[in-house]
Amino acid sequence: MGDTLGVTRWPALLLTWPSGVDRDLIELTLAHLDDFQPTAIQEDDQGPWRVFFASPSSREAAHRELADRLARQGIAISPIDVDDENWAARSQAKLTAVTVGALIIAPPWDLPVQPTPGTIVAIIEPSVGFGTGHHASTRLCLAMCQRLDLRGRRILDVGTGSGVLAIASALLGASAVVAVDIDPDALESARTNAARNEVETTIQFVVADFRSAALHPAEIVFANLTGIMVGAALDRLIDLTTPSGFLVLSGFTADEIVGRPDGPVPSTPRGSLVDRLDEDGWRCLVLQRTLPDA
Ligand code: SAH
Repeated sequence: MGDTLGVTRWPALLLTWPSGVDRDLIELTLAHLDDFQPTAIQEDDQGPWRVFFASPSSREAAHRELADRLARQGIAISPIDVDDENWAARSQAKLTAVTVGALIIAPPWDLPVQPTPGTIVAIIEPSVGFGTGHHASTRLCLAMCQRLDLRGRRILDVGTGSGVLAIASALLGASAVVAVDIDPDALESARTNAARNEVETTIQFVVADFRSAALHPAEIVFANLTGIMVGAALDRLIDLTTPSGFLVLSGFTADEIVGRPDGPVPSTPRGSLVDRLDEDGWRCLVLQRTLPDA
C-alpha cells in the first residue's frame, strides 16, 4: 500500500484526460489499466489522475503497453514517482504510540509508562510489515475490532503485515487467529511482534496468497488490502467468512474508483453492509455474511 517503512517513493502514472472526457472513456481506460493491477487510483475532478503500482516494473509495463493506445484517445500518461509526503516527518520524529479506543499500539521505545486500567497495549516494532497504526486504514480496523465482540471468536487476518490486527484481536480475547501474508518478510516481523506481546500461541502464521491458499473460514475476517484487491477478491473473502460472520474491509478511500461504479464493496446477496467508519478520507466497511447463503 506504500506505507511500508523504508518505501519513500511510490511508482505511479500521471493520467491526463482530454477535455470533455466522458464516463465511457474513463471506464474503458480503467479496464485497460486493470490488466496491470494498479494498487490505487487517485482521481481528481480538476486535474490529472494518479495511478499507483506495486513496483516500478509493473508501472513500466503498463506505460509501455498502453501509452500509444491511450494517446489515440487523447489521453496522456507519464511515469512519476510520488513522494510519500508523510515519510520525512515520520522518520524524523520517530514513530510514537497511537491510541484507538482502549487500544494503544506502541513501538518498543514509546511504551506507556502507566496505562490507565482497561487499556490494552500492543507492542509493534515498525519494520518491513505495514501496520504501525499510523495509517488511517489500520486505525479504522482497530476501531472495528472494538465495535465487534472478539472474545472467544475465531479470526482470520488477511494481509497481516506487521501482525497488528492479529495481535490486537488476540489481546482482545479472540480464541484463535490465523494471520496470512504473501510477503514472508512481513510475516517474520509479525511473528516477532506476536512473541513480544506473548500471544504467539494464539496466532497461526501462514505465508500464502489468500486467493488460492487452503484456509478455513473464520467468524471474523479482517482484510485491509487495497480497493482493487478487495473488489476483485470480494467473493473469495466472503467464502472465508462463516455464515452470519463479519468481514471487515479497508484499504480504500471513500471516493476510490476501482472499476466499478459502486466502489470496491457493492451490495451483494451474499453479505449485507452492517457498519462503516471513515477517517482522513479512508473507509472501513463491515459486511455480515448472509444466512442462509444465497
Ligand atoms: N493488516 C495490516 C497490514 C495491511 S497491508 C494493517 O491493517 O495495517 C496489506 C498486507 O497485505 C501487506 O502486508 C501485503 O503483503 C499483504 N497482501 C497483499 N496481497 C496479498 C495476497 N494476495 N495474499 C496475502 N497477503 C497479501
